[in-house]
Amino acid sequence: MRNNDGDTMTLIEVQDIKKDYPSHHGTISIINGVSFDVADNDFVAIIGPSGCGKSTMLRIIQGLERPTSGEVRFRGKPVLSTCNEMAMVFQSFALLPWLSIKENVAFGLVARGWTPEKINAQVDRYISVTGLVGFEEAYPRELSGGMRQRVGLARALAVEPAVLLMDEPFSALDALTAEGLREEVLQLWRDPDLPPEAVALVTHNIEEALLMADKIVVLSHRPSRVLAVVPVTLPRPRDRKSDAFYELTDYLYSLITEGAPGPGPAGKALPEGTATPAAGAGPVAPADDPPPTPDASG
Ligand code: ADP
Ligand code: MG
Repeated sequence: MRNNDGDTMTLIEVQDIKKDYPSHHGTISIINGVSFDVADNDFVAIIGPSGCGKSTMLRIIQGLERPTSGEVRFRGKPVLSTCNEMAMVFQSFALLPWLSIKENVAFGLVARGWTPEKINAQVDRYISVTGLVGFEEAYPRELSGGMRQRVGLARALAVEPAVLLMDEPFSALDALTAEGLREEVLQLWRDPDLPPEAVALVTHNIEEALLMADKIVVLSHRPSRVLAVVPVTLPRPRDRKSDAFYELTDYLYSLITEGAPGPGPAGKALPEGTATPAAGAGPVAPADDPPPTPDASG
């Protein structure tokens, strides 16, 4: 997925996105001015409490939903409708139960009008890449959660998206399965011959974000704002037992629960340029949702 030529370019610009929904009492503000970038070769995690609009944000990025105001740009152009260069992996897998695994993986390609030969070759490739060989003719109901999510991943990768959007992709899996699949996604990500060029992973799981991402966008309770953008420069594979990992977990946890950017890990300010608290980010109103868990075990 990665090219190692050292060039980076901004793929996605999220610019001052606001999103309101109608409610009994007028409108309810979910996202209140969120901005961040996703560069070529970025693995960005977006974390925040449940209900803060993370899924909504991903749908807005892909163009499935329009923001109330603000703009998403992809390669410099405004995203005004569904962007074909992005693909989504869902927490609920979102497979079509009446289609075989092979047909599920082919789904997006059929919609793009590819020839049957080209579709078959592509489906075989991504069935193989995601460890689904032998399950081509099975149906989703016959597969475990982990295997179903492999299908979700294969279906998304098969369209060779520039950007892979992942919405809590491991949250419905048991701890061991989630751990294994996270590692496999990272292996695919390291492969320079595979798409995508960038990943945006939504999670409420701080440890998961730290295990996977190069950059973490921390959102507040709704109406969400960016509390900080935290680069993660820990060496890979990440050691969750290291002091640095523990300190960053603690830092992110207090950032979200207390709602204001404070000092960095171990009471030290994060190095210049490594964290960019959003302008005006301050204490946020408590919400009825539980705080995110620092535990990546499930
Ligand atoms: P998250 O993924 O961070 O948990 P969501 O993006 O799913 O948050 O939703 C944020 C809030 O927006 C929730 O309170 C949800 O009920 C509300 N919401 C999401 N979609 C709609 C919609 N289509 N109409 C009204 N409210 C919505
Ligand atoms: Mg969600």
